[in-house]
Amino acid sequence: MQSPAYRSAVGDGRGHNTAGARGSMTVHGGLLRMDTPGNGHIFDITPGVASVVRTSGVERGLVCVFARGSTVAVTTMEFEPGGVRDLQALLDRLVPVQGDYEHNRLNHDTNSHAHMRAAVIGPSETIPVVDGALVLGTWQQIVLIDFDDRPRSRTVTVEVVS
Ligand code: ZN
Repeated sequence: MQSPAYRSAVGDGRGHNTAGARGSMTVHGGLLRMDTPGNGHIFDITPGVASVVRTSGVERGLVCVFARGSTVAVTTMEFEPGGVRDLQALLDRLVPVQGDYEHNRLNHDTNSHAHMRAAVIGPSETIPVVDGALVLGTWQQIVLIDFDDRPRSRTVTVEVVS
């Protein structure tokens, strides 16, 4: 298994205040970038998200973790080899690679299963930040799953709102 390689871990961490009619909200942003082999590979991105939260200096708020792309997903799970293989096996059973897919037929494409799996899991998670830290269970990690059928470069947008 290939370990995640962050090309860049965090943004500037500075807050951008957006004053509105009903008050104001401060947003601290960061980007995580990684090269993935695709094909259902699962990365633990918790350290990258935690780094953005730490840099933001936010004590209490929410962090939104969003993966850009229609063949990639973000969720939480216990990130250990058994859980990783079981989730990959479940998704293989749920949405097989080979199938009678309209997307592949209409677009001469090969990755309809990747689009379907990404849509089922979803592209983002929102996690509370309390006392400057992510509120996650001991055995709960934030993961990115790349379902595409070829290697990809992925960008995850991490926005801390307070
Ligand atoms: Zn496609």
